[in-house]
Amino acid sequence: MKYCFGVDVGGTTVKMGLFQEDGVLLDKWEIKTRTENEGVAILPDIAKSMEEKMSEKNLTTSDFVGVGMGVPAPVTKEGIVYATANLGWGYKEVKRELEELTGLEAHIGNDANVAALGEMFQGAGKGYKNLIMVTLGTGVGGGIIIDEKILVGTHGAGAEIGHICVSNDEPEHCGCGRHGCLEMYASATGIVRLAKRKLAKTEETTVLNADTVSAKDVFDAVKAGDKVAIEIAEEFGTYLGHALSNLAVVTDPEIFVIGGGVSKAGEVLLGYIEKPYKEKMFFANQLVKFVLAELGNDAGIYGAAKLALS
Ligand code: ZN
Repeated sequence: MKYCFGVDVGGTTVKMGLFQEDGVLLDKWEIKTRTENEGVAILPDIAKSMEEKMSEKNLTTSDFVGVGMGVPAPVTKEGIVYATANLGWGYKEVKRELEELTGLEAHIGNDANVAALGEMFQGAGKGYKNLIMVTLGTGVGGGIIIDEKILVGTHGAGAEIGHICVSNDEPEHCGCGRHGCLEMYASATGIVRLAKRKLAKTEETTVLNADTVSAKDVFDAVKAGDKVAIEIAEEFGTYLGHALSNLAVVTDPEIFVIGGGVSKAGEVLLGYIEKPYKEKMFFANQLVKFVLAELGNDAGIYGAAKLALS
């Protein structure tokens, strides 16, 4: 039996997994992400942690097929990062450096793309080859898998689903500087934006409070039958469902996997996305499935392992 490491680098912690080549996760642990001094310690810390795990398990580099890693930045096919928002890295040859530090073949990908690969490998998308994952968190992330391969793009910025333009009359700015991006309406913060706007003009009674409302409050109220919350959920689902119908025309997926903190609302969420999707979809895209993600925070290490094993 051969092994690999799957590594998911985040802004505060690095999640790490030791996998068998058949995809079984043997062990997982976390180390701190030391972002000071332009993140110079991050890769050496990861390499050291891998070395310690190998000696703990009586394994050597010859037992490994390699290491896969997801990082929160666009990553080129050559494993190069040009800039990161929260690791301190500027231009960095991540693949080359990690290979030099570990002696293992390294494969690097964008974290959201790698999480999508993870869900295909051992999660909600297992058995499918053409998958789109949408992660509804603070922002909206995404990953597009075509024939079991991540759609990386020229600059490593493929599948930035959150920045599809879905509104031409949005006065506020998205984090990317543009106006009307999907994540302004479909992320946790986007749902709060929709809720505050709705609550400012509705005269219906509702349990929602404009000063404190969260995405979770909205879906809890939906489950309790709150009419205003249901209208907010419909608006959220319309933005997302229509965006996904446009993506489906381009990529023709078998399955949409919906993950991230907002997806903790559960199955109720899927209906609000699927209905507007079906209203807008191209006829050939009607059999696509909508499911909730299954791997949670482990999707990244599973996907990284799959990168190493492919
Ligand atoms: Zn944007």
